[in-house]
Amino acid sequence: MASLSLQHINKTYPNGFEAVKDFNLEIEDKEFIIFVGPSGCGKSTTLRMIAGLEEISGGTLKIGDKVVNDVEPKDRDIAMVFQNYALYPHMTVYDNMAFGLKLRKVPKDQIDKMVKEAARILDLEKLLDRKPKALSGGQRQRVAMGRAIVREPKVFLMDEPLSNLDAKLRVQMRTEISKLHERLGATIIYVTHDQTEAMTLGTRIVVMKDGIVQQVDTPQNLYNAPKNLFVAGFIGSPQMNMMDAVCHVKGSEVELVVGGTTIALPASKRKPLIDGGYDGKTVVMGIRPEHVYDDEARIQAFPGSVIEGKITVYELLGAEVYLYFDTEGFPMTARVNPRTTARTGDVVKFSLDLEKIHVFDKETEQVIT
Ligand code: ATP
Repeated sequence: MASLSLQHINKTYPNGFEAVKDFNLEIEDKEFIIFVGPSGCGKSTTLRMIAGLEEISGGTLKIGDKVVNDVEPKDRDIAMVFQNYALYPHMTVYDNMAFGLKLRKVPKDQIDKMVKEAARILDLEKLLDRKPKALSGGQRQRVAMGRAIVREPKVFLMDEPLSNLDAKLRVQMRTEISKLHERLGATIIYVTHDQTEAMTLGTRIVVMKDGIVQQVDTPQNLYNAPKNLFVAGFIGSPQMNMMDAVCHVKGSEVELVVGGTTIALPASKRKPLIDGGYDGKTVVMGIRPEHVYDDEARIQAFPGSVIEGKITVYELLGAEVYLYFDTEGFPMTARVNPRTTARTGDVVKFSLDLEKIHVFDKETEQVIT
């Protein structure tokens, strides 16, 4: 069993800096958990506390049923893969992978079996006699993974393992790691600041900011139902469009007014704004670029959903087009069909899919609906 439990985990560095504040998380066996967030938010610190490389200032860390706060790293049954994979340059791939096992005095024939099995999983069988300098970046990264795999740990900790690779290789290795997770059936905790990596790899994602967990959820829920403005802005590319709007409650109807534009909210979105007493208050309206349409039929059919803007940038990405424009002083992006005739400089009407609108409290930054 390789479940993990982090209860009220805190980290205060000797200089008094609080890097992690009241971190709570239950990780189930075989989960692929991602810690994501901007630089300095405390991802690596949390991972290093789990590894035992950093002292825990407060709270309880359990691996399985055992409290491991004071257990030595080597006795925690975990393996860590860093961004700097630090292979021994004078050793072959085989010896790099076998090294840890030799230190632990594992019998030679068993070492041979374990290394060959890891090489098979990672497709390194033909490279076992090479030295690291004769390998590509991706191959080196796989050797580093191999070194972790041969130890057969219950938990893998990975700190930005792909950040030294070029874009193409990163995408390739991402798929490899996904497959690896399935093959190994191990629990993986993976740190990244790259939200695409987080969204594609994780079974659950922990979004952090300033040492505080913002939301823990599946990739889909994070995308569709962000709990606050930070998560809404951090997950998704291009970013969710956000604009300040004044809320007007008129009986059972609710309008959001952005400058001179009035958006009539559908019935499904009204109640929390009415019940929450938001009449007359400024809120933040959010909508993802793929829910901003430029097609005429929608614009005609839903007049209460229409905004207008002047296109500042037209970006063709092959299968889709991003139209960047301004509405009432707020920068917006629409992700539309390449058949669009809109071009830079045009003044264009757009229809918002109002069922997909998010509304946030401007003060607390928490989602209202
Ligand atoms: P990055 O993506 O840049 O690696 P991160 O989210 O992994 O960032 P951490 O490395 O966990 O962030 O650092 C969290 C905060 O703690 C940062 O503000 C960092 O400056 C601070 N920090 C890290 N190590 C120490 C230390 N030894 N003493 C004091 N502060 C530290």
